[in-house]
Amino acid sequence: MSGLPGGALREALVDVGAIEDNVRHLRRLTESEVIAVVKADGYGHGAVRSAAAALAGGATRIGVSDTTEALALRRGGIDAPIVAWLHAPGADFAEAAAQGIELGISSLDQLQRAAAAASADRPVAVHLKLETGLSRNGIAPEDYRVVFAEAARLERIGRVRVVALFSHLSNASADEDRAALRAFEEGVGAAASLGLAPPLRHIAATHAAIDLPESRLGCVRIGIGIYGLSPFDDRSSADLGLRPAMTLRGTVAAVRRVPPGKGVSYGYDYRTERDTTLALVPLGYADGVPRQASGAGPVVIGGRRHRVAGRIAMDQFVVDVGDAPVAVGDEVVLFGDPTLGMPSATEWADAAATINYEIVTRIGPRVPRRQVTQ
Ligand SMILES: *Cc1c(COP(=O)(O)O)cnc(C)c1O
Repeated sequence: MSGLPGGALREALVDVGAIEDNVRHLRRLTESEVIAVVKADGYGHGAVRSAAAALAGGATRIGVSDTTEALALRRGGIDAPIVAWLHAPGADFAEAAAQGIELGISSLDQLQRAAAAASADRPVAVHLKLETGLSRNGIAPEDYRVVFAEAARLERIGRVRVVALFSHLSNASADEDRAALRAFEEGVGAAASLGLAPPLRHIAATHAAIDLPESRLGCVRIGIGIYGLSPFDDRSSADLGLRPAMTLRGTVAAVRRVPPGKGVSYGYDYRTERDTTLALVPLGYADGVPRQASGAGPVVIGGRRHRVAGRIAMDQFVVDVGDAPVAVGDEVVLFGDPTLGMPSATEWADAAATINYEIVTRIGPRVPRRQVTQ
């Protein structure tokens, strides 16, 4: 019996060296400044450690969804510029402004509330977000003139500092993304004509940053890529020069030898076909293992690949390992770096009809994250 360190049932190893290397690689590839996106607890990897690793790899700014996430990073010791772009209606930006958090601004109302949070000696840094096709937030083209004029006025009186114009792409196709880029350039032109000349423009997330060079604009916002995962269906992490940062693993909690015809897990969706060994893996959908991947998700035990047998339950699932010499305490890897023989997060995503983003982001709070550097 070996088991995981500290007798743990399950853990997610987070290789911060991989995050650092991935950022370095993407900076070189895109020849652009990198805003490292660590929303949703760093896509499940831990926001503070992901931000610190990204900054060590050369990122110059951190991106998150909301100011609660931004303030948690400040409290965690991240003192680099941080931008947050999704706000509650009527949000009060006082604390964010006091902590020097930069605000993504999608409306006149948000702009005015940002300005109201400025202190006498410190304007609030804003990134004006333009709607260019995605139909989410962002200033609509018909509102450009009014919002840009107000931003220019607030900048002149020292209430805001416009550091960027930005938008976000659909990745529907290269042509759709080019059309959004043209819409963005029109917005940039309109802003310039009203006296705004911010130092930064950013529109590309991982997909476009890699695949659509004209979208880089000298500054890219990278999420999934810094964690070493591919946003493409047809290219792996290794194809992109990236290394997956997370390994999800557990320890075999029980084994039993059973005869043919034995039902396995709720509903007996799976029945054994011969004398075989069943191994119990102590991770379930409460831990983010998607129930949708019942009967399909891959694992590696002792260097051999197996699949989930039957339904994934809240806390556990069963693997039929045949005659493989599996014992209680053996390590079970659900996903990690496929170049090291592990299944990939993308295989789990395929098994659950979702995307790798959702697999890593939904790893549950019961799974301890352990930071490693390889
Ligand atoms: C999540 C997010 C990103 C990062 O996207 P990836 O595909 O993970 O690189 C960038 N910009 C915005 C606005 C986002 O919401």
